[in-house]
Amino acid sequence: MIAAAAPSTATHCPYCALQCGMVLVRSGETVTVAARDFPTNKGGLCRKGWTSAELLTAPDRLTTPLMRTAKGEPLRAVGWDAALDRIAAEMQGIRKAYGADAVGIFGGGGLTNEKAYLLGKFARVGLGTATIDYNGRFCMASAAAAGQRAFGIDRGLPFPLVDIAGAEIILLVGANPAETMPPIMQHFEEQQRRGGRLIVVDPRRTATAATATLHLALSPGSDSALANGLLHIAIQDGLIDRDFIAARTEGFEPVRRVAAAYWPDRVERLTGVAERQLRRVAHMLGEAETAILLTARGPEQQSRGVDNLLAYINLFLALGHAGKIFCGFGSLTGQGNGQGGREHGQKADQLPGYRKLDDPADRAAVAKIWGVEPESLPRSGLSACELLDGLGPEGGIRALLVMGSNLAVSAPDGNRVRERLASLDLLVVADPFLSETAAMADIVLPVAQWAEEDGTMTNLEGRILRRRRALPPPPGVRTDAEIIASLAERLGRGTCFTAEPEEIFEEFARATAGGVADYAGISYDRIESPEGLYWPCPSTDHPGTPRLFLDRFGTKDGRAKFHPIEHQPPAEEPDREYPYFLTTGRIMSQYQSGTQTRRIAALNQIEPQPFVEIHPDVGRSLGCADGDLVRLRTRRGVSEFRARFEPSMRLDTLFVPFHWSGIGSANNLTNQALDPVSKIPEFKVCAVRIEAIVK
Ligand code: SF4
Repeated sequence: MIAAAAPSTATHCPYCALQCGMVLVRSGETVTVAARDFPTNKGGLCRKGWTSAELLTAPDRLTTPLMRTAKGEPLRAVGWDAALDRIAAEMQGIRKAYGADAVGIFGGGGLTNEKAYLLGKFARVGLGTATIDYNGRFCMASAAAAGQRAFGIDRGLPFPLVDIAGAEIILLVGANPAETMPPIMQHFEEQQRRGGRLIVVDPRRTATAATATLHLALSPGSDSALANGLLHIAIQDGLIDRDFIAARTEGFEPVRRVAAAYWPDRVERLTGVAERQLRRVAHMLGEAETAILLTARGPEQQSRGVDNLLAYINLFLALGHAGKIFCGFGSLTGQGNGQGGREHGQKADQLPGYRKLDDPADRAAVAKIWGVEPESLPRSGLSACELLDGLGPEGGIRALLVMGSNLAVSAPDGNRVRERLASLDLLVVADPFLSETAAMADIVLPVAQWAEEDGTMTNLEGRILRRRRALPPPPGVRTDAEIIASLAERLGRGTCFTAEPEEIFEEFARATAGGVADYAGISYDRIESPEGLYWPCPSTDHPGTPRLFLDRFGTKDGRAKFHPIEHQPPAEEPDREYPYFLTTGRIMSQYQSGTQTRRIAALNQIEPQPFVEIHPDVGRSLGCADGDLVRLRTRRGVSEFRARFEPSMRLDTLFVPFHWSGIGSANNLTNQALDPVSKIPEFKVCAVRIEAIVK
């Protein structure tokens, strides 16, 4: 039953990082979504946004804590005190027996800034553990690392989305926004209306690639070879901007030497992209006055994800397409708060405002805000996949609190992850629904959804937005912040924590002061206007920073950095046993692990079951027809999907969306090979075999 609250509330969609503006309208027991003009979505919403209010009245919503008396026993309803008392007691017992780092936390990129901050603080102050990371490690880590290395600052887009329309050329690499965030396409359409051209780099001819001037269907895992090849041609044909390189960058010479070995016919062999296309793209980019490079998970979710991005950035720096209006590199952030979620302390090595746990000055600044001694703060911990590998008696992490993540479906090499989760002494999951991970838990805590609590989100542009409470949570449900504050109290740290969103925001804004992502000048009042504010915003009279890098880059000397990158193949390539590439991704009607969207009937009707996209010749070679059930097998697991024949697919590549669980889970198959810098797993490439299923 829905309790009384304001009849209409301007807020933002619960799903992706576009954070489309919407209005929630209440009428009696019913909540509906209305469009709202906002600069990112210009009044548009995708089907997920339009149907998102249905989540608020989903019949299987959890409204009471659930607990097992012992492993193997069923989950049963219990009171909040019983659940929280047991969590605190077991966490303390494990800490005493095995050390503070034996208790871990796993957060999410969909959590508000307030919650991401609070979770990081709870780990360091409440539990004193170094063991915390989050699912943004699966999404944005390579873009963040590459942005830091090349430009000294990681902000998904260092410019507002409206700048897309002003660029002559957009090079869009491994992104399919026409399906993943459709309203953003208005900006690309405007760019093309003004005479701009869109070049899409993607192994698949996606819905986005179909709208492009040119589509380069490179082979999975060959991004850095492609980027080096384009740079080779640009240098050979005199297209590079020597004045820009001299004035605003550092380190070009080693990159020039590396690029010299990527002659076009070699790059054609490595990437599958024809030499004439390479030349055409290099000239389109080199002859344009303005060009923007946008990447997404395609090049990023690879075991060389950071290298891939740095290679593309090298190309853009050499062409002088950075640090100017309508130019630059941006990564299209995926999760709702994928930007803010990676800034405020739920990462293994991080303190709020992009501060570093291993920096003495950063430790001292944040410890002062938290009222603790700097020496009491733990050091950096394990990254997400390393943390998951460490679960259980062998790895030493005996208890895990999961907030805003459905690891049992979203983590790579799912069979291994589920084994690890099952080996924990204590698994606690906070979720509005009995997700696949919650179903494995010893204790499940029912939490409020996006429209039931206040907070802020930082969208893909680095713009801080108000997410407003439109209605109270159902009776029996608590907010994540309330849970953290209650646990902190039971752990003897209650005075350090509040559950009030605005108070949390004010504290964390202070904790970011002087950091890279400086929110110190932002308050709830200042972002009441529909536009929000861009960080850095260091003082209350600062207007925010929509565009970074126009005068100088964020490095110490203000220069952007080149990085020489040699192409290296993915961790697993097709062979006789596993002869195809497998790549994974999202579809329009579902979102991430599907905990939310698989509960919406209208979305399930669009795409009712998992499928694998294959070239018809691949299907026919197995004796299969379109729609037949097929089995995919990798070195890690087996899954089954309906075959979908797609003539535009490469003959060597299969595509599977990752939104389903069980036998239709893509992540039963994926490879956990990690990028050495970002520690992102290689979701986008592995070797796979396909078999017909004889019934
Ligand atoms: Fe929501 Fe993203 Fe769709 Fe916009 S594009 S309505 S933010 S899911």
